[in-house]
Amino acid sequence: MKPLPVREADVVVIGAGAFGCSTAYHLAAHGAGRVVLLDKGHPGEGSSARAAGLFKMVQADETLTRLSRRSAEIVAGFEATTGVELPVRRSGSILAARTAAHAELIRSELSQSRSWGVELEAVDGAAVKRLAPYLEPEGFEIALHVPGDIFVEEPATLVSAFLRAGAARGVAVEGRTPAIGLRSEHDRVTGVITTRGEIACRTVVDAAGAWAAFVGDQARVAVPVATVRHELAITEPIAGIAPDLPITRIIDASAYLRPARGGLMVGGFEPDPLAFAPPLDQAWTIADLPIDPAVPAQMAAGVEPNAPLLSDAPYCEVRGGLFTMTPDGRFLAGPVPELEGFWLNTGCNGSGFSFAAAIGEALAAWITTGAPPLDLSTLAPARFAGQRFGKRELIDLGVWQYANYYTPPELATATGAVVGASPLATA
Ligand SMILES: Cc1cc2nc3c(=O)[nH]c(=O)nc-3n(C[C@H](O)[C@H](O)[C@H](O)COP(=O)(O)OP(=O)(O)OC[C@H]3O[C@@H](n4cnc5c(N)ncnc54)[C@H](O)[C@@H]3O)c2cc1C
Repeated sequence: MKPLPVREADVVVIGAGAFGCSTAYHLAAHGAGRVVLLDKGHPGEGSSARAAGLFKMVQADETLTRLSRRSAEIVAGFEATTGVELPVRRSGSILAARTAAHAELIRSELSQSRSWGVELEAVDGAAVKRLAPYLEPEGFEIALHVPGDIFVEEPATLVSAFLRAGAARGVAVEGRTPAIGLRSEHDRVTGVITTRGEIACRTVVDAAGAWAAFVGDQARVAVPVATVRHELAITEPIAGIAPDLPITRIIDASAYLRPARGGLMVGGFEPDPLAFAPPLDQAWTIADLPIDPAVPAQMAAGVEPNAPLLSDAPYCEVRGGLFTMTPDGRFLAGPVPELEGFWLNTGCNGSGFSFAAAIGEALAAWITTGAPPLDLSTLAPARFAGQRFGKRELIDLGVWQYANYYTPPELATATGAVVGASPLATA
């Protein structure tokens, strides 16, 4: 094993997924000095490359709305800003519901999102069919068209674009370099220990995805996340599916659809997801996660009446990865109160791919200037200060957040209410 070529840095980012790569790139772009990005395996081999790639402008609150809009701006303008190609589909989306309670939720999101500046409108069945010819809108109580929603066809391209743009700005990327310990003195970070040597630094960002809590343990910082599996499937090509057709979300089915490789992608939030703690064994990667094709098939069955092309199409790919679910369904982004210089960028709750660009940018600005560019207090790790969650409790809360991703508040069961969770979806 070759020793690390770098022994000192201004910032070390642990984990080269969407969150870590975006943070490292933005740190370099903000002039943070020597930025090192570590990955325990091959950079980009985590859950990010397995995402559906969807961006969603309709969000639960104004902060998330601003961040989602900013993320879409960053990725859509990435090539112009950085010179690095990042193909984006400006597809727009359909947001639909087939029950009165779910329709009511969408109605409230319509007026809220409008007040936060999101362009969107209610559309009738004929318009749905014209916009997304793969849909049969029978039974839709309401459908919105959101023109600003986009997707990244191949999610690995977002991670590699941030890696390339970061490297061009001087980020030192070190793969096959697990962080195995943190050094601290007088309650402040002083370095990172890796299998290839130590790096002295005063700022560390934990963006280790499904392993974020293990990295936190190294710093004696509790990172309240539960890791929960999420899966999707892509069908073989289907005649008539153009690549830029809109994304569809049918929220009472907790499912999403989009064009993918000439066919349709389908995924969603099953009511009984698998909580899965990833092994610490360095050889284990997300590619080793057990996959159950019955899960996306169950999601497909829920939307088939409205997307009948799904019923006869065989799958050419079923893939999955791990969400980091927090007790209140919100990101963990910011400094931790108990250890100066230690920052979190995790707690994706299923939306890390689409928020990584804006949250990475915001954290980079905060680290370099000392102040956040917008109020991120609702995402602050400090909101859990003094709260200790047991392992079982974290899993129960995380599974509840996952299973109630699109559930209207009045239909949600009690568990999540324990921590005042908002059952409004973020992705
Ligand atoms: C099937 C699926 C569909 C999804 N669809 C969407 C979507 O449409 N939109 C959306 O916004 N989100 C989506 N998501 C969620 C999204 O993928 C995640 O939120 C996002 O990938 C989280 O990024 P990350 O950087 O935290 O994790 P990862 O991409 O997993 O990266 C973490 C990295 O940390 C590294 N690491 C771990 N421990 C260490 C260590 N000790 N030292 C060094 N490196 C370490 C790992 O090797 C890994 O490369 C989806 C997820 C799945 C699984």
